[in-house]
Formats: sequence, C-alpha cells, structure tokens
Amino acid sequence: ASIFANVPKGPAIEVFALTRAFQDDASTKKVNLSVGAYRTDAGQPWVLPVVRKTEVGIATDELINHEYLPVTGLESFTRAATELVLGSESKALKEKRAFGVQTISGTGALRVAAEFLHHQLKRQTVYYSNPTWENHHKIFADTGFTKLHSYRYWDQNKRQLDLEGMLADLDQAPAESVIILHACAHNPTGMDPTHEQWKQIADLMERKKLFPLFDSAYQGFASGDPDLDAWAIRYFVDRGFELFVCQSFAKNFGLYCERAGNLTIVQQSGATRDMIHSQLTLIIRGLYSNPPAYGARIVSKVLNTPDLRQEWMESIKSMSSRIRQMRKLLRDKLVALGTPGNWDHIVNQIGMFSYTGLNEKQVGVLIKDYHIYLLKTGRINMCGLNTGNIDYVATAINAAVT
Ligand code: PMP
Repeated sequence: ASIFANVPKGPAIEVFALTRAFQDDASTKKVNLSVGAYRTDAGQPWVLPVVRKTEVGIATDELINHEYLPVTGLESFTRAATELVLGSESKALKEKRAFGVQTISGTGALRVAAEFLHHQLKRQTVYYSNPTWENHHKIFADTGFTKLHSYRYWDQNKRQLDLEGMLADLDQAPAESVIILHACAHNPTGMDPTHEQWKQIADLMERKKLFPLFDSAYQGFASGDPDLDAWAIRYFVDRGFELFVCQSFAKNFGLYCERAGNLTIVQQSGATRDMIHSQLTLIIRGLYSNPPAYGARIVSKVLNTPDLRQEWMESIKSMSSRIRQMRKLLRDKLVALGTPGNWDHIVNQIGMFSYTGLNEKQVGVLIKDYHIYLLKTGRINMCGLNTGNIDYVATAINAAVT
C-alpha cells in the first residue's frame, strides 16, 4: 500500500471553494461576492495605472536583475512601508526605535510575527476577534500557540461593535497575551471602533499589559486616506506601546499574488533593534530564505517617487469611493423594496466587506436560487457589486429575507 494511503482529505477553504463554484456556474446572472479582491464597475480586476506604469519601467530597467534580496527584503521598500504606517512625523521613527522586515504579504507578516512571539518571547496565548479573518487562528495554531481565544466583537442583534463584550473578554486575558487588532476595515464585519473606543481599548491593554499586534491589510483602501486608516496604530505608538504591525499591499496596491508585505516592529528604544532584527532574519531564513522582489520593487518605487505616490493616492480614493457608493446604493435599494429589518449597518461599515446579517439559510437561497456567491456568515465583498448587478442582488436579498 502507498505510504500516503491514510492521508485524510482536509476540509475545503470556503472562500476558494465558492470561487470555484462560481466559475463552474453557467448562469449569466451569477455574482461573486465571496473572495476579497477589488472589482471595477464593469466587474473586472483592476491593475492600478500607476502600478502598470511602474511595472513597465522595471521590466525595461537594465540595472535590475534577479539576484537574491537580503533575507529581510528590499530596504527601500521596508523603510517606505514602515513610514507609511507610522507616518513621516512619527516620533518612534525619528528616535530610531521602529523598523520593518519584508514578508510574504500580510499572511507572511503574521506568520513571522507569530514565530518570533512564540519562540523568542515564549508567548502561548493569542486573542482574536469573534469573528475574524479565519486564517488568524490557523497561523497561530500552526506556529505552536497553545492557548487560542476569541474576544467578543460583533453584536449580531444590533449589528454593531460589542465594545462592552470586547473589553470584558480582554480584561480576562493573562498579562503578555498577544491581542490581534484589525487596524481598519475589520474583516469580516466592516465595523471599526471609534477613536473614543480605541482609547478605551488602549487603556485596558496598557493596564493589563497586553501586546498589540495590528493586522493592517487595508490601509488607504478603507477611507481613501492612508493617514486616517492608520489612526489606531499611531495612537497606540504615541501612547508608548511596543507593538507589531503586519502590513499587506494586496488590496491598497492591487498586488494580491505578488505577496508584498512588511512586518513593522516598534520598540521602547532602538537598543533592541539589532537583536530583534537578527532573530527575524533567522526565522525567515528557515521558512523561505528570502522574499520575492517584484511587488516590493513596485511599492518602493511608487511610495518613494512623489508624483507616482500622488497617483496612487488618487487610485485608492477612487476604489474606496466606489465601495462607499455601492454601500449606499444597496442600502437604499433594500429600503425602497421594503426589505424587513434595518440596513443602515451597510453604510456604517467600512472597507471591502459587509457583514450583512443574512443567516445561513438565507445565504443558501442566494447561492442556490440566485447564483449569488457569499460566505455562509453573510459576509459580502462590496466590490463584487456594481451598477450592472446591484438591482439583481438587492431583489434577491429581498426575496431571501422576506
Ligand atoms: N489580514 C486580513 C484581515 C485580511 O483580510 C487579509 C487579506 N484577506 C490578510 C491579513 C492578508 O492577506 P495577504 O496575505 O494576501 O496580504
């Protein structure tokens, strides 16, 4: 018998399974609201014009070759990425107590962060929001964390943030627990704390000595303003927290498959920098040796060239405003149809996703009867909506709910 004979089949990953089902669906009405990627109003993927232009420049640049990058990546990229998240006026940067290492997009940043926290700092306990991006649990469990907990976050009845529940759960967390916080555009709920609520979260985390790990997958993509979207991170840094930020350039640069990411480390003082850097180097060396250059070169060139950076700012504004427009249209159409329930949460949420509040049965109806694909939690990718399909989707939701 084969040595592989007893390998059990693992469960499918819902979001990829849905996309496969969508591709196989012959209906002309089909709509994919599952996978987290931007779509234009014509329903197409979008290469940001500034990215395309930069790619062409890189492809014809005789000075660029395919030698290995350093283990911790392209320095002009990590510097620009770290500055993008902390802000050019950041005290932590001026005092040289913050730096970044390149990672395999946001997922890789989370994995490298988890490896460091577990193996260097001996952390066993991590808390993530309920609900959260489902990979948080897997990354930390695979790394070896033994105590994985969720904290309350979403109030399904009120369709808003359950701050009281969140604070109560974090109050129970042992000192030194790693707390994963979504920097902005919380996935999957689209619901972020207000500035006032972030202050309360920071108060509690400071008092309980909890470690903030910010997952920043949507900077600039949420509000259209990268500074605004980094508010919570900068607030924690200003208050003196030591923390990690896991940055992805998948959404805000549309570089999904190119895996451009950065792990930013903010320390109390620069004295610990070389030690941390050397340990991160060893972690990355053992995982994949060194990162891919292509996406990092693009991001570096754009962020470090003022007119290209300006063009990028225009593109993130246009993506985020198209999403906001779809939120408003969907809410207005559901209200106009007299769909039972309150739909204001759709416009109060921010970023790529909306937690619609649709239940599993209603989701089943949408998929089976209407060829509209979404996660069974009721999460939809707002970018999958456009002026061509929004009437169809609103009518279908109305029918599924009524
Ligand atoms: N964190 C969150 C909350 C996300 O939504 C995503 C993207 N789906 C990521 C991290 C990481 O994505 P990537 O590895 O593609 O950068």
